[in-house]
Amino acid sequence: MPFTENGETQDRYAVRIDDGTAVRDMTLWNLLGRQAARMLPGQLVLLVNLDTSEENGDVVLNGSSETGTKVYIISEMTSIPTSSVLRNCSFLSTLSGSANIYSKVCIVSVHPGATHIRDARDYLSATMLVHAACHRPVQRKDNLQFSGTLDGPVDVYEFVCPACCNHNLPPEDVIPIFDIVICIDDGTLSLMAHTTATVAKTILRISPSQLLELPSHSEQQQTLLAPRGREVVVSLTTFCEPFSTDHDARIDAICDADDVGVFMS
Ligand SMILES: [Zn+2]
Repeated sequence: MPFTENGETQDRYAVRIDDGTAVRDMTLWNLLGRQAARMLPGQLVLLVNLDTSEENGDVVLNGSSETGTKVYIISEMTSIPTSSVLRNCSFLSTLSGSANIYSKVCIVSVHPGATHIRDARDYLSATMLVHAACHRPVQRKDNLQFSGTLDGPVDVYEFVCPACCNHNLPPEDVIPIFDIVICIDDGTLSLMAHTTATVAKTILRISPSQLLELPSHSEQQQTLLAPRGREVVVSLTTFCEPFSTDHDARIDAICDADDVGVFMS
């Protein structure tokens, strides 16, 4: 929500946060807001140096790089925090509502998740085209409703980024990222979880561009079959999308179980 005053426009981002004691809205400005736009619903975050003031009995929260505010996304950290306040290792069967837990699981299967525009070379629908700056899905300029596989090279189309209100994206700013869903099982429960683009790359051990260079359906298919049976530790976030009652699960960070020493205690 851009904010204009005296002819000068600033980027303004509204974020709703919940620490278990109350729900509050905060405003993040300019560079910090653009960086924090990576945050996803349900993630556990640490906010440092927020500005607080009072307005009509309500607490008003503001943050910007100028006032030293910092945002850390704990859920995306690939190491496990040693503070017991932040670390929560549990079994999948104990998951409830909105939560962030670490769990040791086995990868049962990997499925394509893409419902957005994807490159013509993607035979699996396992990637989507996003704006490189914000990693949000792009739209086709000539057909805003289009979602599906392009029938030609990416550079013959023109794209817009609705998230950044950028209506003229140069071709090099439109990149593929993975969009996959994986089935995980820890012996107490199995569930389907979405993944962030970084996690998907770690699971598949290949970059989206490398996948698109594989020339056949069967070669691309192999990359989705390879992770089956691997034991991993995941940072798992469960959340409810606004206006929905379905609970979604998303893996925000992942590493091989062999690389984690002492885990469940
Ligand atoms: Zn964008």
